[in-house]
Amino acid sequence: MNAAKHFEKNPVTAQLLDRQDPLKEFRKEFHIPKRNNKEVIYFCGNSLGLQPKITSSKIDHELKKWAQKGVEGHFDEDPWVSHHHKGKTAMAHLVGAKTHEVVAMNNLTTNLHLLLASFYQPEGNRKKMIIEKGAFPSDYFAITSHMKQKGIAPDDHLIEITPDKNGYFSTEKICRTILDAGDALALVMLPGIQYYSGQFLDLKSITHAAHKVGAYAGFDLAHAAGNIPMTLHKDQVDFAAWCSYKYLNSGPGNVSGVFIHETHGNNSNFPRLAGWWGQNESIRFKMENNFDPIPGIDGWMLSNANIISSVAHLASLDMFEKANIHELRKKSVLLTGYLEYLLVNNASIKPHINILTPKKESERGCQLSLYFYDQGRLAFDHLTKNGVVLDWREPNVIRVAPVPMYNTFDEVEKFVGLLAQVFD
Ligand SMILES: *Cc1c(COP(=O)(O)O)cnc(C)c1O
Repeated sequence: MNAAKHFEKNPVTAQLLDRQDPLKEFRKEFHIPKRNNKEVIYFCGNSLGLQPKITSSKIDHELKKWAQKGVEGHFDEDPWVSHHHKGKTAMAHLVGAKTHEVVAMNNLTTNLHLLLASFYQPEGNRKKMIIEKGAFPSDYFAITSHMKQKGIAPDDHLIEITPDKNGYFSTEKICRTILDAGDALALVMLPGIQYYSGQFLDLKSITHAAHKVGAYAGFDLAHAAGNIPMTLHKDQVDFAAWCSYKYLNSGPGNVSGVFIHETHGNNSNFPRLAGWWGQNESIRFKMENNFDPIPGIDGWMLSNANIISSVAHLASLDMFEKANIHELRKKSVLLTGYLEYLLVNNASIKPHINILTPKKESERGCQLSLYFYDQGRLAFDHLTKNGVVLDWREPNVIRVAPVPMYNTFDEVEKFVGLLAQVFD
């Protein structure tokens, strides 16, 4: 049963849910922004996650090391040259991968370009790509720029899957579009969680459909990583990338995570845009020109790691290891279910909103996207004025993301109370 339905049959207070929350201590590990000396209700972790208190000391540690050791920091007992090996176990747990299938490097859009350079290899009739209509602009720009660079017209070769009127993409429609494209299809690139509606797509079925017609399947997990557990390796997903500053709390613009399935990663002839950091570590510093890529995803690295910011990513990944993504997910289902329950059972609010995000828990993460039939902007301004941090999407959608790592049931209840005031 969906958690909201469960709460309808078994009413329970937010205070009790908070008391019973096994992860409640994690909130204390974060800086919660304040306004007028009062903690805000921060429901915007889908856009920029909060800062763990430990982060500044981790960065400070590296700054001190740089000050004291200079270049020798690259090769001391905790060498910067090996930095990219760290955090792999935690990343692998988040997305369901083997450690040699994941690495942190560059930024998200840069990585999408690198992945497209590898996986979009149009040949003969096989030139088409599939994306969702209303995709995040960066993803759309990345895909169409690869087409244009290869002299392929997006107008004729980009297939945009359209959602139903609520923004919902049915798996059946996605798979049918893939099968219809057949051997003209080179690549499917879709979101794990669609940023606007919050829908979690069926990665496994989409990947299987793509493979059936001989195409690759890749996913942008910007809104899925750290939000919902995944099984990329088992699902045979070809590639994926995500940013670390949304649910992964690593700080604005920080490093991106990348996944390439070992079937491709261990193939040293797989096409790629290469750099010296992807060179086999035993010969990297010989500075020769014969490229011998490190097996696995590391063979796609270009540059030595940005240590100062990457340690913020590691600090956050440590917390995910401690909390455990499956435990976070359990809380998330309750937290978002509680939000849904309070919204749909509130007589003042109900006539004014339509929840775009699917009701099925297997089809969503923590975010609910509220479509306002009227007075959306008024509601947004009222909530903002009263210390709730949310985001607004045109034409009249408020995305609400209660994050299990640091948000509480009490905040969910207060939020719904404030929203009801708009319509009372
Ligand atoms: C957040 C987000 C991005 C942002 O890309 P950056 O390269 O990190 O600036 C791109 N695509 C999607 C789907 C996103 O949600």
